[in-house]
Amino acid sequence: MNSKNTILVTGGAGYIGSHTIIELLGTSDFKVVSVDNFSNSSAKTFERIEKITEKKVTNYRIDLCNKTDLEQIFETEKNIIGIIHFAAFKAVGESVLHPHKYYYNNINSLLNILECCLKFNIPNFIFSSSCSVYGNISKLPVKEDTPFGKAESPYAYTKQVGEEMIKDYTIAFPQLHTIALRYFNPVGSHITGLIGESPLNKANNLVPIITQTAIGKIKQMTVFGNDYPTRDGTCIRDYIHVTDIAIAHIKALMYLMEKKNKSNFSIFNLGTGEGVSVLEAISAFEKTSGEKLNYIIGDKRPGDVGAIYSDTEKSEKELGWKPRFSLDEMMETAWKWELEQSKKN
Ligand code: UDP
Repeated sequence: MNSKNTILVTGGAGYIGSHTIIELLGTSDFKVVSVDNFSNSSAKTFERIEKITEKKVTNYRIDLCNKTDLEQIFETEKNIIGIIHFAAFKAVGESVLHPHKYYYNNINSLLNILECCLKFNIPNFIFSSSCSVYGNISKLPVKEDTPFGKAESPYAYTKQVGEEMIKDYTIAFPQLHTIALRYFNPVGSHITGLIGESPLNKANNLVPIITQTAIGKIKQMTVFGNDYPTRDGTCIRDYIHVTDIAIAHIKALMYLMEKKNKSNFSIFNLGTGEGVSVLEAISAFEKTSGEKLNYIIGDKRPGDVGAIYSDTEKSEKELGWKPRFSLDEMMETAWKWELEQSKKN
């Protein structure tokens, strides 16, 4: 393989982007460049990536909605052979309140990148999608060939539209080889505890809320509902370690580069296949951290589905990818990262 092969990672300072860059650099097959305007992330992440990998990553601080600026990167970086497109707004609740922000950013940036793939002959493209494209589904576990359900938020709709856009491009332009990776619930942090999820905005997701409660940033957390038709009444999700997700991106990239794909647009679920309830997640956290969590049971959160978890057969068989981190390790690393962040505050 040509050692000058460059992978462009959009959203490289973000949660999954940063972990993926570490794995990409670990293979030593690739040079990595990032595009991130730090709209929900920090430049410090690159210092931390450098500390872990001992390699420097060039980041272009541009807005992906600005096509001229984006094209300039491809003029400069001549050896880009693949793009992993993470950069997008992702807060479900915010998308309901500010649909324009989500449609404008998530759709325009994808459109600009797809146009660059054509203009600069980039053959391989990987898209961050989400299990939210399945909507409120009752048949579990969820398989990739399940049709889209009704999108429960503008965020989810941008992922559905994004996948459709990519599919249409691959039909019109068969030189483009693409994969959509549908993430279930990515959690945890790098085993060093040096990087993790650090949204500039208020945490919305369960695991950061658990660790922030344990450290005292949040006084008390609420379990959203305990009368769902599940084994303990709380919602069930498929939590997956962020490094397992990152590794899946390398597998997906190699799958395209080695021309193993049967179609120009492939879809893979990224989950463990195991459903975990909110109370089970809390108890795994308490066990591994030794901290007692201050929580109450509250009302259901609007829009929550009772249970969703992934069918993992296709990713295992075709990508050769199997998650390795246990729920306890997800909690341990998430806690390590919370402690690391508290050091500098
Ligand atoms: N959850 C909760 N309390 C919180 C945050 C989340 O009980 O403060 C629950 C939420 O209802 C859901 C699960 O934790 O059942 C995972 O929520 P998250 O927002 O992390 O992911 P998603 O809703 O996208 O699956």
